[in-house]
Amino acid sequence: MANQTIQTPTASADHFHRWRIDEPNGPVSIGTCKVCGTTKQFKNWLSDMDFITNEEHRIAA
Ligand SMILES: [Zn+2]
Repeated sequence: MANQTIQTPTASADHFHRWRIDEPNGPVSIGTCKVCGTTKQFKNWLSDMDFITNEEHRIAA
């Protein structure tokens, strides 16, 4: 869930949102859907888990 690009099935949209997450800046980051521009807040504590590294963040950016 903490990947730079997150696909979320959403009943109100006709596509899977592809979240581009801003650089962490406090307890939450703002993700912007690359498809429709919708924004959503993502909790940054997820990125503290070890299944994604800072290097992976740079590659995905
Ligand atoms: Zn979208």
